[in-house]
Amino acid sequence: MSEILDPFKISQHQLAEACKIKGYGDEIYNALCVPERFVEVKLTMKMDDGSIKTFRGFRSQYNSARGPMKGGIRWHPEESASLVKALSAWMTWKCATVDIPLGGAKGGIICNPKEMSNREIENLARAYIRKLADVLGPNVDVPAPDVYTTPQIMAWMMDEYETIVRKHAPSIITGKPLPIGGSAGRSIATAQGGVYTVREAAKDIGLNLNGATVAVQGYGNAGSWAAKILQNDFNCKIVAVSDSKGGIYNKDGLDAFKAGLHKEKTRTVVGLEGTQKISNEELLELEVDVLAPAALENVITSKNVENINCKIIAELANGPTTPDADNVLFEKGILVIPDFLCNAGGVTVSYFEMVQGYYLYYWTEKEVFTALDRVMTNAYRSTVDHAKEYNTYNRMGAYSIAIERVIEAMKLRGWL
Ligand code: NAD
Repeated sequence: MSEILDPFKISQHQLAEACKIKGYGDEIYNALCVPERFVEVKLTMKMDDGSIKTFRGFRSQYNSARGPMKGGIRWHPEESASLVKALSAWMTWKCATVDIPLGGAKGGIICNPKEMSNREIENLARAYIRKLADVLGPNVDVPAPDVYTTPQIMAWMMDEYETIVRKHAPSIITGKPLPIGGSAGRSIATAQGGVYTVREAAKDIGLNLNGATVAVQGYGNAGSWAAKILQNDFNCKIVAVSDSKGGIYNKDGLDAFKAGLHKEKTRTVVGLEGTQKISNEELLELEVDVLAPAALENVITSKNVENINCKIIAELANGPTTPDADNVLFEKGILVIPDFLCNAGGVTVSYFEMVQGYYLYYWTEKEVFTALDRVMTNAYRSTVDHAKEYNTYNRMGAYSIAIERVIEAMKLRGWL
């Protein structure tokens, strides 16, 4: 049988497996396997050169039983309805795994912001909100940044929403810049949360992080900050990092901060002094202690899983591992910190940002990270406990917690 690579089918396959492990039948699976609402919008606008372009945008609202729905907006040329639905499902399981009172959603636009001017980006951001304002809201569905969307884009989106409703509503969106209602720590929260789970995983397998080797695929918000924090706080040796243009390697370690500055200057990590160029594929197969896929989905598949050679996989990206590869990693005894646990720091601090926005009272970074550490450590511990209880791998451990919580909320509301 050929390997499933369609993201939404993968999410449904994982859900079916989790339902089987938990003994839930078809009625429960059917109640959980599709979004509550899926909206597609057409965004037509004038470009700087006078031409007219039409973009497709999506919002998938997967499940609202536990609270207002929450999920980022991804802008990417490869964006698709299937991917947005899958990401909205994973958002639902993510919020439930870390036990924050939110449901799951996700949005996206098929576009390439790298080829657009700032003015065009702003117009597209505002057009998306105008088309979707009716189904968004601080107590309904709250977007956030994801791949190729930034705090500035969140600021324009908030402003457009507030213009439509004619009042301040900072909790309509998270990942905003600090001066207009962002949370301290939000910009590095996904990475920081992931690092807390790596710290716990390292304890579990007796790995000393001091000097431990790390490879990171994807040097954006999640990946670059994870590399910097692991280097700075734990003295890990970052041996390889990459982005869409390729990877760089130095067996004796490279400086994560210099790699970031080099990318700021040249728009890629490739070419950093003292490193050799490697491909993204080669990076994944390096012998390292910690491998962090932090770019896009389906990078660890049946094709390369036999060559994966690390002790811990920290899935900062959403959906980097296919179900076939998951089974092999479990057999190989590689500890996987599954995506919707590992990268849940972002949504957790987004939730803190919503709470601060409701009260218009803002916390210090120390308060944010102390609360984040508690949430992530508890979620990591319950995930591995559930995995052990059901004699399964960690992704199913996290699913076990998440679907149980979502089902409980649906039952209490009388939906089941
Ligand atoms: P980003 O846009 O900041 O960075 C993405 C990085 O991936 C860039 O360095 C880009 O060059 C690289 N990339 C793109 N295509 C690539 C390819 N084919 N091979 C290798 N690298 C490639 O995005 P981000 O916010 O860091 O998101 C990365 C992943 O983390 C995504 O899967 C996202 O859903 C997930 N995530 C992000 C957050 C968050 O708060 N930012 C939260 C949860 C999950």
